[in-house]
Amino acid sequence: MNEINSINSDNHLLDEVVSLEHQVEDLFELSGLGAYRVSEDGTCLSINSQALKWIGCSRESIIGRKSPASPIANTNWQILKNSQPPNSNEDSEEHIFGLIDKGGQQRFFHFLNAFPPSEQHSSHERSIIFDLSEYRQQAERQRISSIVFESKMGICVADSNGLIIEANAAFSKITGYSAHELRGKSFDFSVLLPGNTALKSKVQKSLANKGEWEGEIREHRKDGSSFTAWVNISAVPMKHDSQSYYVLCVYDITANKTSQEEIHNLAYFDSLTQLPNRRKLNETLSNILSTTPRPDSHGAALFIDLNKFKSLNDTRGHRVGDMLLIEVGHRLQNTVRAVDTVARVGGDEFVVLLEDLSEDMPKATHEANKIGTKILKALARPFKLGEIQFTCGASIGINIFGYDDLVHDVIQHADMAMYEAKKNGRNSLCFYNPEMKASATAHANLEQELGLALELEQLAVFFQPQLNSKDEIYSAEVLLRWKHATRGILKPNEFISVAEESGLIVPIGFWVIKEACKQIRQWTTDPLFSKIKLAVNVSARQFQDPGFVKKIFQIVQTSGINGSMLILELTESMMHDINQVREKMEKIRELGILFSLDDFGTGYSSLSSLIQLPINQLKIDQMFVKNMVANSGDAIVVKTIIAMAKSLGINVIAEGLETQQARSLLHEMGCSLYQGYLFSQALPTQDFENFVKHRN
Ligand code: C2E
Ligand code: MG
Ligand code: MG
Repeated sequence: MNEINSINSDNHLLDEVVSLEHQVEDLFELSGLGAYRVSEDGTCLSINSQALKWIGCSRESIIGRKSPASPIANTNWQILKNSQPPNSNEDSEEHIFGLIDKGGQQRFFHFLNAFPPSEQHSSHERSIIFDLSEYRQQAERQRISSIVFESKMGICVADSNGLIIEANAAFSKITGYSAHELRGKSFDFSVLLPGNTALKSKVQKSLANKGEWEGEIREHRKDGSSFTAWVNISAVPMKHDSQSYYVLCVYDITANKTSQEEIHNLAYFDSLTQLPNRRKLNETLSNILSTTPRPDSHGAALFIDLNKFKSLNDTRGHRVGDMLLIEVGHRLQNTVRAVDTVARVGGDEFVVLLEDLSEDMPKATHEANKIGTKILKALARPFKLGEIQFTCGASIGINIFGYDDLVHDVIQHADMAMYEAKKNGRNSLCFYNPEMKASATAHANLEQELGLALELEQLAVFFQPQLNSKDEIYSAEVLLRWKHATRGILKPNEFISVAEESGLIVPIGFWVIKEACKQIRQWTTDPLFSKIKLAVNVSARQFQDPGFVKKIFQIVQTSGINGSMLILELTESMMHDINQVREKMEKIRELGILFSLDDFGTGYSSLSSLIQLPINQLKIDQMFVKNMVANSGDAIVVKTIIAMAKSLGINVIAEGLETQQARSLLHEMGCSLYQGYLFSQALPTQDFENFVKHRN
């Protein structure tokens, strides 16, 4: 009986154990943990569905077996069994292992012991595995967040009331407040937009409507210095929290802004005088014209050109020239009101804009005249440029404009008036009138036509004989003529200035030299003409052309003439840099070419500069020749020139000779060559040849 009782109680105990075992297994089934049991020989006794999922096999394929059939599951099963810690007291990182899922990705697990060590190896021994992936991902996320927080971008997080919870080092650097100081402060009131109420309400509106605001701010750091930043504020709702947080990303763009401003200044301001440049002037003028409050009122543009600036620059160097320009800028600014614009629009050209003059045109003109005169006076006072005292003066063109005028016209008309002022003499001012426009238009048309004249073969050279005291034709001056399509034959005074201003004189001048060489070449075989030299005029602009010497060599050498048959007529106006001029002349002289100094007496050449240059001939200007009979003063000048030239071994030719009387006088004074209407005007080739045949 006792035995039976004992058997019954054993069975009862076993039932209880089994039931407990089931309960434990159910518990593990619900726990989300992986659990399994293995017998000593490695046979799987039980396994829950979570572990099956991680291993990747079905219950049937493993229960009662040492390994499942599928290769992945088998690998995982082996990893699992081998990962079991030898001593379950240890609970270290070493018990982390990875299983492979269907996609080939590793997933990490940790081994846990379900029972205390005292029960080790009991029949209840159960291995438990725990999925670490989620924790790992979270840790990674935290690591990444902290890296983001370390970035150069200022970041700060504020609670739903806008009170700062945390700020990174970059945010502290940008705002000047430490993280400690920032915590608890309102981000918009204290740090980012303390004084900017308008922007603040805009930000708040945008956050309320869109949950975001982005824009540029210019604020002050704690120390009062200013910074410019690009700010993005986002309201971030929390998953488990009904309230939002604010994340502020602040990027310091102060440096970019500064360089942007520098670029702007370079583009809109003259770097020497710091005055607005032409572009800025146009912009300002355009604003004035489009936003004036009174449509009937007037404004004035004063175009100012300095006199003698070029000669100062050439003789004293650019440094002194720059000093003058800066000083002129100051004087102009001090002469006009602060609201008026003073701009530098070119080398020595300035423009002053006067706004809001009278609606009454005569009154407006009077006002502008007053200021123009004041400027003239200011610029006529001597300038102290280092050691040098310099007086330059200016020419001013004034254009009174209405507010419906075009920007381009306003400045251009003032410029035209300035040219007129220049013609009137130094230190004068001139108002624009519409006739100037007509003459400027004609000028522009002429320039355009002249540009085509060479191509259309409308240019021709005429020859004016130059005779010696024996009335023999010694040489001839080559003079340019333009056979204009509608206006007939034009003389140089009608187009040479246009050619010079436009630069067309350079190609035209070389063409004349080529024509002269061609003519010399043609005459070489004819004894009647072979001794006649040809004198060609060279303009300053052409002589200063860097390729001048090379081009002369090329023309003379390809034409095959004897260089001594060619005379180049230079003028005193090109004698600025005497050393450079001499250098060029010396080189050209290697070809045998002779030099004549044209219009002598009208410039200011000093005797010393003449001695330095290889000049063969002085050409007394026709003004002296014309006046010398009636005016004893002129006669004395001519006499002195001839005597001086003789002592220097230089020939003298008198041009513009119209009377026999003058010729006799010149002959007495020792002049040996003559040119003028007394003998002949400039003639076309055929007529000139006839003249020579008849004469010689
Ligand atoms: P220039 O070199 O002083 O030439 C003399 C000018 O005086 C010529 O005028 C000539 O026709 C004129 N003339 C000559 N004898 C008399 C006279 O007895 N009485 C008067 N009233 N005038 C006389 P043109 O041909 O009209 O040339 C004018 C200026 O044009 C020249 O002055 C010269 O500076 C320039 N020029 C002419 N051809 C050329 C050229 O091929 N190249 C350059 N760069 N300039 C040229
Ligand atoms: Mg000449
Ligand atoms: Mg002359």
